[in-house]
Formats: sequence, structure tokens, C-alpha cells
Amino acid sequence: MDQKLMQLYADFIVKVGVNVQPRQNFIVRCPVTMPEFAHACVRAGYEAGAKRVYVRWEDERLSRLDMELAAEADLKAMQPFELRSWLDLAEDPDGCCTLAIHASDPEAYAGLDAGKLNRVNLARRTMLKPWQEYTMNDRIQWCVASVPAPGWAAKVFPGLPVDEAMEKLWDVIFEVCRVTTGAPVKAWRDHVAKTKARRDQLNAWQLDSVHMTSANGTDLTVGLAEDATWEGASSVSERGVEFIANVPTEEVFTAPHRERVNGIVYGTRPYVYNGQLIDGWHVTFRDGKVVEQGAEKNADLLAEMLSTDENACRIGEFALVPASSPIRKSGVLFYNTLFDENAACHIAFGAGYPTNIVGGRDMTRAQLLEKGLNDSAIHEDVMVGAVDSHITGLRKNGEKVEIFKDGEWAF
Ligand code: ZN
Ligand code: ZN
Repeated sequence: MDQKLMQLYADFIVKVGVNVQPRQNFIVRCPVTMPEFAHACVRAGYEAGAKRVYVRWEDERLSRLDMELAAEADLKAMQPFELRSWLDLAEDPDGCCTLAIHASDPEAYAGLDAGKLNRVNLARRTMLKPWQEYTMNDRIQWCVASVPAPGWAAKVFPGLPVDEAMEKLWDVIFEVCRVTTGAPVKAWRDHVAKTKARRDQLNAWQLDSVHMTSANGTDLTVGLAEDATWEGASSVSERGVEFIANVPTEEVFTAPHRERVNGIVYGTRPYVYNGQLIDGWHVTFRDGKVVEQGAEKNADLLAEMLSTDENACRIGEFALVPASSPIRKSGVLFYNTLFDENAACHIAFGAGYPTNIVGGRDMTRAQLLEKGLNDSAIHEDVMVGAVDSHITGLRKNGEKVEIFKDGEWAF
């Protein structure tokens, strides 16, 4: 891969995506397969003035061994230090920020007991929730970005030798993340400005609900939570620092009301859950709850996911992404939600973001539930937008506005 582009990418992610501030602690999660990229990020972090950069190596093959060979009860019983190792840095007076570099093999856990995997992940997420609140509530700057992994590259470009597939995946990532422009910082500044303008218009309309239809049969009405806001492009932390939570990001998203979603929706892209693919799926909602569902591939896994907990069968996010997004235009199916969710409009099963409610960051989960914001241990984005999707909005004053026409912004 082009070393110069890789350093541009790392610099952009750390200095604009995370926006590391002087004296902050900076936590980098990176797969063990990508040490050079972690080192590039560490360098960029110190250049930005980080007090200390902490790298947390992640190893899917190791996780698979744990999942396969350790007892479920032992996997669920986390040690207090596992949570403290995050909280100690989050509670440091100098604050912290975090970058998660993903490079997942989409089939990393294929063939394992899906129920066990799900229950263990749920227990871990529940125990780590005090840390996750820091990112879910934008209390600190956080960013998720991806680099290629051999298993992932082979999945995206089957039939190519792994080296070539890795090379090709780097090229596509550089392309869709606007790194090949040679000036990603400027390209992202322009992109963020345009996305913010759409977001502001959507907020100005004061929408009560949105209605989505597509030729595949999708006919979905999503009522918005009370005091719901549209967010997108960049976010602002508790300390007032602007950051980009996902690289790439093309979406403008809001909080559905957990009891006001009705109709049927068809998935338009396969979806990777716990390392396995769910494909050709659809769900029917009544009063916010999934009452019927199906999938051509891994229907049992879809059912498993929707029953993770009481509210996993309700949605916490509705997001708009035009069909002209660089990710869809690349023509590549990434088998990775971070990219694929930015190729199409999507919904997310499970928890909603408190930041999608006016003043939500300072509310308790009970207060947020009251507003209609869903809560769950999961947040799973699934793609539902098509090139022919139409979306209209119903304003609180009864007026109708056109939001999407033929898969593109209509305003
Ligand atoms: Zn989203
Ligand atoms: Zn999401």
C-alpha cells in the first residue's frame, strides 16, 4: 500500500476524526495484524499533543479461541479491572479520547454457537456500559475507522490472491475516505459543511414522522421521538471539542419513537452480525415492535439478535444516506457495517443515541425512554435504502415535505 497515503489517512483520522487535544490521554484499539498503522496513529497522537497514547491490541483469533474453549459462565464473569482500565483514563482530569481501528474478518466467528456468543457479548457490554456511556453520549471524542484485514479483503475480493486483495481494499478505503484527493482535511471540511446544512434543514422542519417507500415493497412509517434532533457529519464532546465519530460517514440520522414505527421494511444489503451474514431479510413493525420477520440466509441469527433483550426488537436510529455516496458508487460490498451503512439509508435495532434528543446527554435512561428513545444492549445498523427509495416527511404543522427522491436528497 502507498505509505504516503497511509500516513495521510492516519493523520486525518487522529487529528480531524478524533481531534486529539493537548494533554489528553489517547486510547487506540488496533488489530494485531496492523502494527504499522497503529504506530502511524501513535505518532500522529503525540504530534497532536497527547499526554500518553495507549494501544490496546485486538486479536480475533484469540477471541475465537476464548469463545470456543472457555466456559460461558467464566466468559461472562468479567474482572473489575477490565472496566477500570477504561474508566481510569476517562476519569483522568486531563480527559481522554479514543480511536477504534476495525479490521474484522466477517466470518471470524462462523460455526460457533451463536447463542453463547450473543449471551457472552451481552454480558460484556452490560458490564462495560459505564465506559460505553462516554462514547454513546459523546462525553469524550471518539472515532471508529477501518483498515484492511486478510480475511476481510479475501471476502470482499474473492478469487484474488490475499496480497492483491489487501492492496485493492486499501485503495477502496483511501478512495471512499477521500484520502486519494491528496488533501483529506479540506475534502472533509467541505463534506462536513454540506452535511450540516442538510441536518439543519431537517431540524428546521420540525418533523413528526417520515415515510419511506421503495420498489422492493418497503413501506415504512417512522414516528420520531419527542424532541428528536437530526445529527450528522461531526459531533461535539462534553468539553466542546468537534470530532467525527465514524470515518467514513455520509449519514444524517435521528431518533425514532420506540412505539411509533409501523409497516414493512426489506434489507437491501447483507448484514454481518457476530461475524456471520444475514441476507435477504425483512421485518414488519407494529407500534414500534417487530411482529414478523424473515431472512433467506441465517434467519435464526436474525431472530436471535432481535431477542437479545426486551427492546432489541425496536429501533433506535433512522438514517438518511444518498445513493450517490462514495461507498455505494465504489460498487463494493464491504461486509462491514461501518462502510455498508454509509452506502444506504438504514435503521438500527436496539439502543438510540441520547444525543438525538434535545438535552438528552444529561437525561437518565428512564427520562429518555419517556421521550420514546429506545434502550437495549445492542445497536445494530441494517441497510434498507434503495436507489428508488422515496422519503417524505410529515411536519408537526401537518405540512408534507419531500426528503428523498429516487434515492437522492430532494432538497
Ligand atoms: Zn447510522
Ligand atoms: Zn447506527
